[in-house]
Amino acid sequence: MRDPRNTNEKNSANAVDPELHPAPIEIPLEWDTPMYRLAVDQLDQTAEQMNLDPNIWERLRAPQRSHVVSFPFRRDDYHTVETVFAYRVQHMLTMGPTKGGLRYDEDVNLGEVTALSMWMTWKCAIMNLPFGGAKGGVRIDPHTLSSDELQRLTRRYTSEIIEVIGPDRDIPAPDLGTDERVMAWMMDTYSQQKGYAVPGVVTGKPIEIGGSYGRREATGRGVISCVTEACRDQGRSLAGSSVVVQGFGAVGSVAARLAAELGAKVIGVSSLGGGTYNPNGLDIDAVESWFKQQSGDDLRDYPDGDAVSNQELLELPCDILIPAAIQNQITEKNAAALRCKMMVEGANGPTTLEADAILNDRNILVVPDILANAGGVTVSYFEWVQGVQQFFWSEEEVNRKLIDLMQSAYRAVDQLAKEKQVTLRTAALMRGIGRVKQAKHVRGVFP
Ligand code: NAD
Repeated sequence: MRDPRNTNEKNSANAVDPELHPAPIEIPLEWDTPMYRLAVDQLDQTAEQMNLDPNIWERLRAPQRSHVVSFPFRRDDYHTVETVFAYRVQHMLTMGPTKGGLRYDEDVNLGEVTALSMWMTWKCAIMNLPFGGAKGGVRIDPHTLSSDELQRLTRRYTSEIIEVIGPDRDIPAPDLGTDERVMAWMMDTYSQQKGYAVPGVVTGKPIEIGGSYGRREATGRGVISCVTEACRDQGRSLAGSSVVVQGFGAVGSVAARLAAELGAKVIGVSSLGGGTYNPNGLDIDAVESWFKQQSGDDLRDYPDGDAVSNQELLELPCDILIPAAIQNQITEKNAAALRCKMMVEGANGPTTLEADAILNDRNILVVPDILANAGGVTVSYFEWVQGVQQFFWSEEEVNRKLIDLMQSAYRAVDQLAKEKQVTLRTAALMRGIGRVKQAKHVRGVFP
C-alpha cells in the first residue's frame, strides 16, 4: 500500500507536515479483502498520478458508513432458521444521497461491498450525477431460494437497514442476484413501515410502481454505447465484429442482444455453469428462449453451439470481449491468453491490477467498469428524477438521454486519457476522483 502522506509532498501545495499528522491509515482489518485492496490500489495509483491532496486521498480510502447486520431467516420447511449476514456501505455522503446496487451472493463480504461502494462514488462522479456511492449485499446463494424465501429474506433485510435508506438518504437498486421483484418488495416493506407509499426509496423497480422505462436494459445499453465509441476510436465497425460475453444476466444478455441488433456476430456467451460457442454467430433470441426453459444456470447444453467453460470462453479469439458476470475473472493467470482486441467491462471489478498492466502492454484497449457499466446508475438517476417530478418519460426519451450521456462521458474520459497519456481506467478514475475532490474542498471539514 502506498502512503498518501509521503508521495507528493514536494509537489503539492497541500503538502502535509508529517509531524502534525498521525500515521496514514493502513487498510483496516474490517474491510481488508482482495476486492477492497484492488479498489484502494486503483485509488492510490491514480491519486499519485494526479497529485491529489493527501488529506482527501486518505479520506477517500475508507467508507464513511458501514452497516453490518445479521438476522434470522426461516426456510420454507419452517423448521430451519439460518443466521444471515448482510451489509450496506455508504462510501461518501458529500455529493447528495448515496446510491448503489444490492447483491445476493454466497461470497459477499464487507470488503467486497465496500469496494463496490467506492466504485459507485467514482461512477456517479464520472457521469456527473448528484449522488455518492453505496452498495448492499446479503451473504446467501440466491439459487437456493424459493420465491417465498426470496421475499422473506428481502423484507427482513430491508427492515434491518430501514434507518439508513430513504429517497433523500440512500437508494438501493438491483445488482448481481437481485431484480425488479426484489426492489418492489423493498419498496413495499419501507412504505409499510413509514405508513405511506415511498417509491423513491429504490430504483430499478417495476413500471407499475414508478419504475422507469429502459432501466432493465440500461446497463447493457450503456456497455454497448461504450463499445460503439471504442470501435469508432479504433476505426473498427461494430457491425461484423465478433463479440464474446461472459454472464447472461441483466447486463450480459442485454449487451449480447444489442450487439447482435447492431450487426455484431456474437460468437460466445456464458452463465454460471459454462457457455456456448459458435464461430458462425449465435442467434441471441434463440439462446434467450432456450435458456428461459432450463432449470439450471448453465448454457453448455445449448444445441446450436459447442460447450465451453467460463475460462475457455474468456480466451476465445474475438474482436470484443465483454465480461459481464462477476469480479476477478481476468487475472495475471489468464491475461496473456486473452485473444480479444478490446475489452469492455460490464461487470464490476472483473480485472485485477496485474492483469490490467498485462493487457495494457499487449495494446488491448480496456474500457473500465466505472465508465462502461455506468448506464445502470444513470437510468436509476432518471428514474429518481421522474419520481420526484411525477412526470414520466417515454422509453425512446430515456434511451436517447442515456446514450447521449454515455457518449459524452466516454469522449471526455478518452480525451483526458490522450491528454495525460494514461489508460482509460486511470482517466476515468481521475475524472471521478477530481470531481469528488472539488466537492469536498468547497464543503470543508466539520466542525
Ligand atoms: P445477474 O445476477 O442478472 O447475472 C449475473 C450473470 O453472471 C448470470 O448469468 C450468472 O449465471 C453469471 N455468473 C454468476 N456467477 C458466475 C461465475 N462464477 N462465473 C461465470 N458467470 C457467473 O447480475 P447482473 O445484474 O447482470 O450483474 C452482472 C455484473 O454487472 C455484476 O458484476 C454487477 O455488479 C454488474 N453491474 C450490474 C448492474 C445492473 O444494473 N444490474 C449495473 C452495474 C454493474
